[in-house]
Amino acid sequence: MNFIVLDLEWNQCPTGKSDTIGQLPFEIIEIGAIKLDEALAIQDSFREVIRPQVYRTLHFKTREIVSLRSIDLENGRVFPEVILEFFDWCGPDPYFCTWGPSDLMELQRNMAFHQIPNSFPFPFLYYDIQKIFSIRYEDRRTRRSLESAVDYLSIPKEVAFHSALSDAHYTSLIMQHMTRREILENSSVDYFHTPQQRKEEIYLQYPTYAKYVSRPFPSKIQAMKDRVVTSTPCFLCRKNVPKKIRWFSSGSRNYLCLCQCEEHGYLKGKIRLRQRSDGKYYAVKTIRFVTPEEAEAVAQRKDSQHNKSRV
Ligand SMILES: [Zn+2]
Repeated sequence: MNFIVLDLEWNQCPTGKSDTIGQLPFEIIEIGAIKLDEALAIQDSFREVIRPQVYRTLHFKTREIVSLRSIDLENGRVFPEVILEFFDWCGPDPYFCTWGPSDLMELQRNMAFHQIPNSFPFPFLYYDIQKIFSIRYEDRRTRRSLESAVDYLSIPKEVAFHSALSDAHYTSLIMQHMTRREILENSSVDYFHTPQQRKEEIYLQYPTYAKYVSRPFPSKIQAMKDRVVTSTPCFLCRKNVPKKIRWFSSGSRNYLCLCQCEEHGYLKGKIRLRQRSDGKYYAVKTIRFVTPEEAEAVAQRKDSQHNKSRV
């Protein structure tokens, strides 16, 4: 098996949102990747500059961040050519790793725009090293910049950040502070393609929680009326456990609930409703074991929401 640590740099419309092409908000201008073997040892690298075909000049923000100049881009090769070479280089069944959740989303958007067949599996699981860093070293929620994670681990900073290859390289060095198991146990689901129908819905089990991704619904209300979306099985015994606190809204797209399995204790449910590009909604539900103190915090959250809505 190979881990492919991928990092992309992209450009956006230099003249602002009103001229942006909806299917391609960000155009990839550089691909950097590092190949690691199953022992997390670096085997190879890949780097290509891509000549933009849509947004041909750099947005001022892109220019501030990336080290590429216009002349580099003009000498680059076009996306369809580079991407096919990249997949060849990856080899069979790669395990994709990225810093944060955006790169594989933008990669697939660029592929769709250029009508390149998407041969990623469904569901497409990948490894968000930024998230796994938080699980491994912090509180699961914090998201650090790549540079601050590099500082945290006292990794020497020998090359500048914000070039695709150097960022992929730093991400690889961070992975080398983790075990393969810690990485593989904490996959993320890519949401570029989400389930189209009930039988494609995604169920995943992690060491301390379970995740479910639903089919689309025309509205948030309809999603929250669905029995499968709102069910709360204990992921150890599979029993549907009674709710101590029914689903309540916490912010405009999030819902929380609290349940108690007689055998396994408190479970906190969380539903995030996400909007697809066609305007429909799908639900991402996680059910996690919590301590009695965390269960109490859910109850307090509900009270404070309730008070807010009465004001
Ligand atoms: Zn149980």
